[in-house]
Amino acid sequence: MRVGIIGDGQLAMMSIIEGLIMDIEFAVLSFEGDSPASHVTKHVFQETQIEEFVAFSDVITYEFEHFDKKIFDYQKLLDKLYPGVKPIELKQNRLLEKKFLAEKNFPVVPFYEAKNTDELFEILDSLNKEVVVKTISNGYDGKGQYTVHTKDDIEILKEKLKDSKDSFLIEEFCYFDFEMSVIAGISKDRVVFMPMTKNIHKNGILLYNHTDSFTIEIQEKAKAITTRLLKALDIKKGVLAVEFFVKAKDLYINEFAPRVHNTGHHTLDDAEFSQFELLLRTILDMPIYSPSLKTQGGMINIIGNINLDKELINRVLSLEGAKLYWYRKTPREGRKIGHINVTAEDIEDIKAKLRNLSKILYPSLNVW
Ligand code: AMP
Repeated sequence: MRVGIIGDGQLAMMSIIEGLIMDIEFAVLSFEGDSPASHVTKHVFQETQIEEFVAFSDVITYEFEHFDKKIFDYQKLLDKLYPGVKPIELKQNRLLEKKFLAEKNFPVVPFYEAKNTDELFEILDSLNKEVVVKTISNGYDGKGQYTVHTKDDIEILKEKLKDSKDSFLIEEFCYFDFEMSVIAGISKDRVVFMPMTKNIHKNGILLYNHTDSFTIEIQEKAKAITTRLLKALDIKKGVLAVEFFVKAKDLYINEFAPRVHNTGHHTLDDAEFSQFELLLRTILDMPIYSPSLKTQGGMINIIGNINLDKELINRVLSLEGAKLYWYRKTPREGRKIGHINVTAEDIEDIKAKLRNLSKILYPSLNVW
């Protein structure tokens, strides 16, 4: 069995590590200079070698969304591609994604569209509400995202965007109780779910997440919305991650990702099988079911200019139940370069461990 992955980042790397021990071979289509996946497969193809990449692969999937859609002109690739083209088209444009969700009656926070900065500031003035402004393309991990709480924030934003040629999605600010995500897998019309997590972001980027006890009502609502979204996106095989804002008993979709997801990394250590194995099982027509938790678990991202020297590694590993994942990427401001999973019997222990790790990794950050 040979799987081709469009993209060669850490998500491809972890999918490959999981798949190798299931006797699966992998190729990746490479876009970046720093290529975590190239450390775990020798079959690394460049965009110019698309024919060879497709010929190598029995089935093809992707690990990110922001690639040039011209590779979809190659029909032989489309014939092997899961979960398909439609989710990528929506994910490359935040406005299309939100409009699609709203049109299909999925719950989303109220939003507005601005074609340029003039329109943006007209809307902000007339709305007079707290909002989150997001550039329509290339926005992820907090990039191209600005929160406006006060009139002063608008003035600061005017200065920041004075040379911008972008168009924008403006979302009303949601004072949610918490953020939560669910990752579903689908194959042969069967939908299964990874354990859900609570997610904590800092500056628009996921800092840490952990399993938690959610009410049956919230879990069932999340599963029903995610199942309906799989159908609306026409996904036949693959995984879909959905990030929610939860406010009282209401759920709003913040965004979805038609692939394995940062909030599912914990499953490498706390679930019967991981999100990466679930992806492989779905696209390779293997049996699937919803894996149970073996223990409670959590994850903290290693972000930015962190020098992971021997001393820091030893401090991390001295914490019982902590496991380090390093992506072999060059550290850079705002860049995810690794993560640490933690396991424990009790959710409070998980939170304490994550708190300890955040103090080790980010001594000056106050998020607790
Ligand atoms: P995004 O890149 O859209 O996933 O946003 C990243 C993070 O920013 C989210 O996980 C939230 O923590 C925060 N955020 C985004 N949109 C909103 C919103 N409309 N209201 C409140 N917080 C938001």
